[in-house]
Amino acid sequence: MTVDQKVRELQHFINGSLVDGTSGRYSDVYNPSTGEVIARVPLASREEVITAIENAKAAFPAWKKVSAGKRAEVVQRFRQLVSENIEELIEVICEESGKTKEDAKGEITRGLESVDLAINVAHMTKGEYSVNVGGGINAYSAKYPLGVVAAISPFNFPVMVPLAQTSMAVAVGNAVILKPSEKVPISALYMSNLWKEAGLPDGIWTVINGDKEAVDELLENNTIEAISFVGSTPVAEHIYQKGTSYNKRVAALGGGKNFMVVMPDADLEKTANAFLGAAYGAASQRCMAISGAIPVGKETADKFVAILKEKIANLKVGPYTDETVDFGPVITQQSKDAVLAAINKGIEEGAQIVVDGRNPKISETSKGFYLGPTLLDEVTPSMEIYEKEVFGPARIIVRVESLQEAIDLINDHELGNGVTIFTNSGAAARKFQEEIEVGMVGVNVPIPIPVGYHNFGGLKRSKFGEGYMFGPDQARFFTKVKTISERWLEEDDETASTFSFPSN
Ligand code: NAD
Repeated sequence: MTVDQKVRELQHFINGSLVDGTSGRYSDVYNPSTGEVIARVPLASREEVITAIENAKAAFPAWKKVSAGKRAEVVQRFRQLVSENIEELIEVICEESGKTKEDAKGEITRGLESVDLAINVAHMTKGEYSVNVGGGINAYSAKYPLGVVAAISPFNFPVMVPLAQTSMAVAVGNAVILKPSEKVPISALYMSNLWKEAGLPDGIWTVINGDKEAVDELLENNTIEAISFVGSTPVAEHIYQKGTSYNKRVAALGGGKNFMVVMPDADLEKTANAFLGAAYGAASQRCMAISGAIPVGKETADKFVAILKEKIANLKVGPYTDETVDFGPVITQQSKDAVLAAINKGIEEGAQIVVDGRNPKISETSKGFYLGPTLLDEVTPSMEIYEKEVFGPARIIVRVESLQEAIDLINDHELGNGVTIFTNSGAAARKFQEEIEVGMVGVNVPIPIPVGYHNFGGLKRSKFGEGYMFGPDQARFFTKVKTISERWLEEDDETASTFSFPSN
């Protein structure tokens, strides 16, 4: 196959160096704003993954022995380098994902929150100590890194999600293998160079590019101790089931169907403004994007839909190079086709189209994967567009008569990533927060993504396994605990054998 000279051939980052792929398999990387192929990424064979794992395994013992303070210094330098290179990193994200520059900046900033937490590694991993638990014995617990661990990331946050998955894993002393999405591999390779420059020893941060074949090796290889996965629910479930069957620790975060409940007492103008950004930002390609609104009562619904209709008409879709656009394209043509199919099916099943974004006007020549904002009203729970996560700018309105009906509906949905309520009633907000079965709950906050020092994760089929992203749980997830009972004998201490079970 001849490679277009303009198309960069990407590599893996193994043992501190960029290395060519050897499998002979590649995947195209697009600039979704232009529809052009900008690079091709090698898809690793099992043998390449094994080489990467062996290098990581060899590097681990020395990194484990480095003091937490010194490891934190490296993470701190990495943070500094991300900040110094933020403009270039924004360009990389925008080119391969299509999101706007402001949005790319936002994702880097949020990602750095998890790096900040990782810099506190010494505090995050300190143990517990109890003196004289009985018989002159002191007991203490200590956290140790697991060894070689893997992170598998989705396309929609090329920097934030990998940072949230890996910063603490590195800081606590593991060797980390990142398998980024094959749709956005350039950001991960860019970060590899920054880790190297920050002084991270070779082999501690690896980027292996690939698809299912690479992931299968990560899931089955005995050296991999833990897997942090973020992506769609079907793949998350597969990763959890297969990874745990190989006795690995697995946290697998899946998709979302995140509703905004709009109470009759809410300020509808402000609520609509909050809805727009949370629902259509990043072309709705966020796991925490608002998928739809559930207005309570006919009057609320009629008014809310009318306000939205007017406001949506003013949204601007286009390439990130135009700084006035509100959001960009979806990631691929297949993704665009899937969103179009979901809209068409919704209409076929009886939903009313309020705003039709299926044929956005961008420019005559643009081949980018654009969709305008679509709003469907009168959606009911039996429709496919209600049941499934739609990863593109088609949002829905589901009408209910009471707060209880809204809560029951949301609780019946198989996904439970994020949810929010807009109201001026403390009592309604309290009831909602108490009764709702969703992992991340907002009250007058449109996208309730926790800050970096709180745990991030959904409930139900939005998360498999006991592990989170961001937050203090990362320090637990990526370490193992030893509990030590220690006694130092004096000359006259009794050491007779005891055959009954010892007690304090
Ligand atoms: P995806 O599940 O298609 O891919 C995620 C990763 O899994 C990629 O690295 C991909 O190469 C790999 N993969 C895909 N199919 C696989 C298979 N059969 N076997 C092994 N590996 C496989 O997800 P995506 O389209 O890249 O990302 C969008 C999805 O991620 C959405 O569903 C979104 O809600 C979800 N997401 C969730 C969160 C969260 O925190 N819960 C955050 C971001 C994105």
